[in-house]
Amino acid sequence: MKKESDFKTLCVHAGELKDNEHGGAISPLYMSTSYKFNDVEINQYPRYFNTPNQRSLSKKIAALEGADAGLIFSSGMAAISTALLAHLEPGDHVVFQNDLYGGTRNFVKKEFSKYGIDFSFSGGTGINDFAKEIRTNTKGIYIETPSNPTLKIIDLALISELANDYKIWTMIDNTFASPVNQNPIEFGIDIVLHSATKYLGGHSDISAGAVVGSESSIDLIFNSAKNFGGNLSDYTVWLLERSIKTLYLRVQAQNNNAFSLARFLENESWVRKVYYPGLTKHPKHKIAKKQMKAFGGMLSFDLVKELDCKKFLLGLELVKPTMSLAGIESSALSPRLTSHALLTEEERKTQGIGSQMVRFSAGIESIDDLKKDLIQTVSKQK
Ligand SMILES: *Cc1c(COP(=O)(O)O)cnc(C)c1O
Repeated sequence: MKKESDFKTLCVHAGELKDNEHGGAISPLYMSTSYKFNDVEINQYPRYFNTPNQRSLSKKIAALEGADAGLIFSSGMAAISTALLAHLEPGDHVVFQNDLYGGTRNFVKKEFSKYGIDFSFSGGTGINDFAKEIRTNTKGIYIETPSNPTLKIIDLALISELANDYKIWTMIDNTFASPVNQNPIEFGIDIVLHSATKYLGGHSDISAGAVVGSESSIDLIFNSAKNFGGNLSDYTVWLLERSIKTLYLRVQAQNNNAFSLARFLENESWVRKVYYPGLTKHPKHKIAKKQMKAFGGMLSFDLVKELDCKKFLLGLELVKPTMSLAGIESSALSPRLTSHALLTEEERKTQGIGSQMVRFSAGIESIDDLKKDLIQTVSKQK
């Protein structure tokens, strides 16, 4: 396992481009879309994911996850859709965790049938729930842990053992944990995906995605990626490199705020239930402790039924009632009204998403100010 100090240094320095001409301190930005013809290896071109800045950032993100190689995309969904389709052919089947990010769920449900690809969702988050879904044509297992928005935890080591038994691949969407808190490759997971729009970007101003894994799986994904064309512009690549230099510090502060809030909310009379893998009450706390370095900046809680969820959110003055997550500014939303609005009532019920649920993305503000804001919005309903 990587030492903490190594990770911090990797955030700042891994993959950086040297400015040999001027000796500048940061990676130079190469905006060129046209490079000298080179008939030895593949030519440089943004859609081939191999410009100087694209290559350096891929190395950085791969290093953070302890992977051999990586690719940077224009969004999390570009990375996810490309990685999946690159690994699948007509007639194949994939087992997905039931609690999937909404965009991934829509992608699978709307697009897979066009390619003749079959899928099923795990009934629960236990290893047997996945084992039960494996068929003769199953090619892989796709998971998200901690999950959105109920922070369910899946045992990474057991999932990779199961996949090894059947000689199938495993993919994880590691967005919620970020590479600071969880490195699934250490537990045998093959391919790690990120919406870099979230923690890697961290300032709610970048749309990007990433995939990392072995050289051979990244080659396979690259062969589809250059056809689908979901590459990220070099300017944004460069901005994302800058963001990642402070990833460790940001996420550390977000972890601390989320944990403090979870403990605080546990004891508040206006909260019915808190969902946070760091709490000893969390049903999979022991597994979370085994596979996570810290428990992340995301938590959810159910308000007591006397409170109106929408009023609670709109009454917040510091915390932003915005979509998305992982920015340095705290934000909160109702999964039922926003991120999970497109699910059927039945689908929400099986995932445990009720009308009183609030999903909270902890920022880096003072914990006292965050608590004060939550208390003041509740008091508006008294
Ligand atoms: C946001 C998000 C995505 C999709 O990322 P985009 O950058 O919006 O395409 C995928 N998975 C998770 C867990 C996310 O939070």
